[in-house]
Amino acid sequence: MNFELDATHLEVRQKAREFARSIEHLAIEADGMSEVHPGLLNALRESELSRLMVPEPYGGHGAKLDPLAICLVREVLMGTCCQADSLFAMQGIGSFALTAAGSERQKQEWLPLIATSECLPAFALTEPESGSDLKSIGSELVADGDRLRLNGQKSFISNAGAAAYYIVFTRDGEGFSMVLVPADTAGVSVKPTPEIIAPHVMGEVDFDDVILSSDARVGPAGSGLDLVLATLGVFRVSVAGAAVGLAQAALEEAVRHTRTRVQFGKPLNRLGAVSQMLADSWVEVEMARLITYRAAYLAREDSAASIHYSSMAKLGASEMASRVVDRCVQVMGRFGLISNSKIERLYRQARPMRIYEGASEVLRQSIARKLSEEVN
Ligand SMILES: Cc1cc2nc3c(=O)[nH]c(=O)nc-3n(C[C@H](O)[C@H](O)[C@H](O)COP(=O)(O)OP(=O)(O)OC[C@H]3O[C@@H](n4cnc5c(N)ncnc54)[C@H](O)[C@@H]3O)c2cc1C
Repeated sequence: MNFELDATHLEVRQKAREFARSIEHLAIEADGMSEVHPGLLNALRESELSRLMVPEPYGGHGAKLDPLAICLVREVLMGTCCQADSLFAMQGIGSFALTAAGSERQKQEWLPLIATSECLPAFALTEPESGSDLKSIGSELVADGDRLRLNGQKSFISNAGAAAYYIVFTRDGEGFSMVLVPADTAGVSVKPTPEIIAPHVMGEVDFDDVILSSDARVGPAGSGLDLVLATLGVFRVSVAGAAVGLAQAALEEAVRHTRTRVQFGKPLNRLGAVSQMLADSWVEVEMARLITYRAAYLAREDSAASIHYSSMAKLGASEMASRVVDRCVQVMGRFGLISNSKIERLYRQARPMRIYEGASEVLRQSIARKLSEEVN
């Protein structure tokens, strides 16, 4: 067994660190915005990190996507700037269906623009009445002569309003399909989502009698659920990477504060309860990092077969990040509560991670099902 990152992964992490340093001064502003920060997007373009989200023939990096490389980048970015992490992650989440099952024409048209971050994508599953229960969606695709007609509403869609296209999960006859809808198609409109505790680029998207050509489906009719699973297979573990990065950054803030602030004649980090909380947090970050890297490694080999492992990593790391950042705020006392301080931003940003890309309770259900299959 080798627990060291190889030279390629070290290089990816180094590139991510250089990018993070170059955008650190934008983080407070960008993380307070529900729109894309233009300076941040330009910096992402210059970094070329989005090439990791696309295979080589279409301007990307490597023969297939490498979930461990993606995790390493998200780990670094989430510890610096939440919007940078989200923009980077969405380049993959919103394009993977095309990579996995798109027609040659769809791939040629969009993937090179994703690789350079010239265009931003969106991945639209959630609806006002349908969240965890994906099969309850109301969006519907019907044949209209030799074309297709899409009607439906999507809610809390990352990149909505900024995206050049939407990959939309929809009913299609007896099953579900994915369709690619360019954002400038007639009948597509975007309204703002109410602002959440950690501002995020997202919106509510209406598809009102949207007419699409007959080749707008991504993959065969009826393959929508498979494409959702394929996307989650590669990207769910990357949320774990981001959670590890967030917790590490919170812990570093808490250590810097508690080793210099003196109370009762000692630095805070020498007071029993504080040192216990810091130690427990470090242990938990390291444990989460290990399962995350292992799950990412397995996902590269066979993402469908290892989805339960990715779910474990996402569940474990996102729950860990919430616990760790909460303790870090606690040991920083009133200084942990100051609006827009780094620790306060991390505290707010940790919370949505336990809800998106599989709420913790939904993941526990699927992990428990798998456990019972595994045991004789
Ligand atoms: C920042 C952010 C970005 C997002 N971006 C996107 C995006 O780009 N595209 C997109 O399609 N969606 C996106 N979403 C939506 C996200 O996918 C949903 O919030 C998520 O699927 C959960 O759905 P819900 O919020 O409707 O919760 P619900 O499904 O209503 O569930 C609420 C709670 O009930 C519990 N619960 C639900 N089902 C079960 C179950 N089977 N067993 C036990 N407990 C259960 C869980 O505690 C869950 O948190 C985003 C959300 C956020 C916060």
